[in-house]
Amino acid sequence: LGRKLNAALQSLNRAPVVDEKVLDALLKEVCAALLESDVNVKLVAQLRQKVKTKVKAALEGGADKGKEQNRRFVVQKAIFDELVQLVDPGIEPYKPKKGQSNVIMAVGLQGNGKTTTCTKLAVYYQKRGFKSCIVCADTFRAGAFDQTRQSATKAKVAYFGSYTETDPVTIAAQGVAKFKKERFDVIIVDTSGRHKQESELFKEMVQIGEAVKPNMTVMILDASIGQAAEAQARAFKESADFGAIIVTKMDGHAKGGGAISAVAATKTPIIFLGVGEHLNDLEKFSPQPFISKLLGMGDVQGLVEHMQEMATQNPDKQKEMAKKLEEGKLSIRDWREQIQNVMNMGPLSKIASMIPGLPQDLLQGSDDEASVRMKRMIYITDSMTAAELDSDGSLFMEWGKDGKPTGLTWRVTRVARGSGTSVREVEDLLCQYRMMANMAKQAGGKNGWLQAIQKMQ
Ligand code: GDP
Ligand code: MG
Repeated sequence: LGRKLNAALQSLNRAPVVDEKVLDALLKEVCAALLESDVNVKLVAQLRQKVKTKVKAALEGGADKGKEQNRRFVVQKAIFDELVQLVDPGIEPYKPKKGQSNVIMAVGLQGNGKTTTCTKLAVYYQKRGFKSCIVCADTFRAGAFDQTRQSATKAKVAYFGSYTETDPVTIAAQGVAKFKKERFDVIIVDTSGRHKQESELFKEMVQIGEAVKPNMTVMILDASIGQAAEAQARAFKESADFGAIIVTKMDGHAKGGGAISAVAATKTPIIFLGVGEHLNDLEKFSPQPFISKLLGMGDVQGLVEHMQEMATQNPDKQKEMAKKLEEGKLSIRDWREQIQNVMNMGPLSKIASMIPGLPQDLLQGSDDEASVRMKRMIYITDSMTAAELDSDGSLFMEWGKDGKPTGLTWRVTRVARGSGTSVREVEDLLCQYRMMANMAKQAGGKNGWLQAIQKMQ
């Protein structure tokens, strides 16, 4: 999906003019890619309509006055925003708080990855200083408690279950009561997801829910079941009103679009993605970075985390950089420094996907080829003056009386000539920088997702 969406956006960059025909062709490509990865037909139709309306409104508002670059940006942003809307129901999921017991109950059909995910969650929270444990309330499957015991032992988290008790409600209540008394912070309740009859399964979940009063119920959805994910989520939502979704098996060939549709159908946020069978194969999910990465536009959050890790090596420099990123004050010079850092770090392909604004096709081919392309970006910035490098790119724009950009200045031509690249390449680089700077700004702010994430840790 990512490769196709990125290819569609790249073709936008190559189109000499951005008119309605180009927009229609682009939307057709984007929609085809979404449908192919199992996103609900209705949602796709809505997205197409919304993007068209938005672009039209923006262009009538004067964004088309100048050069094509502005129109391109408007189109790109509209598509980006609408894709984010797809995976963002606008609801804040529950966040475990320290110093109290947070009960999390996992529901979902058998085989979706509940037991695996429960352990991953316990490890995730344990790493962040929450005393975590697992209660196995699956009495349906014979080996269920053994599975929990083994994986919990491997993960070094506490667990509770029984070989003899057959009532899942009793076990759940006992386990949660025991761990609450022992002052555990995060208590995860794993359920069976199977019964002789479906209605019995839902009844059992309701009863377990009443017994343990979860702070958050999480639906575990398997990405590999495609479009069926939506119906499954709807059915569960009715009886076990879950407040968050975790999508598992995103590492396989799963298309993931079914899970995206499930978010819209149940208006419930995704909080994590399962990306493998190992204990650490759990990725935090946030709409903006997810779509950004999908489109090859980088992952500010991943980048910040990476920079924080690097901060231990070169504390002062990196701290300053992280601060700038948070405040949305990253200049072209800072951005270039990040690209250079990445080039020195290697292996390129792994880290470069996190750098905002690096188009995905930059990373295709071998690491050597990718580094040649990154070097071209450095050449371009090498031809900029100090003032240009320290700017936020606005020096390269012509500005109208209404404060909106109307075109690009002679500086672009000068930089292209000086670096032995083309005007188009310089334009592309500026556009990517602008996209990144915008996202960084949104990530900063008091209510930005960056703040939300940092509060959680
Ligand atoms: P449950 O029946 O819902 O408890 O599902 P399990 O946790 O037992 O998982 C079912 C199977 O899916 C197991 O073989 C897991 O290893 C596998 N699985 C779970 N999550 C993931 C994931 O994110 N990626 C992959 N590749 N496999 C997973
Ligand atoms: Mg299980």
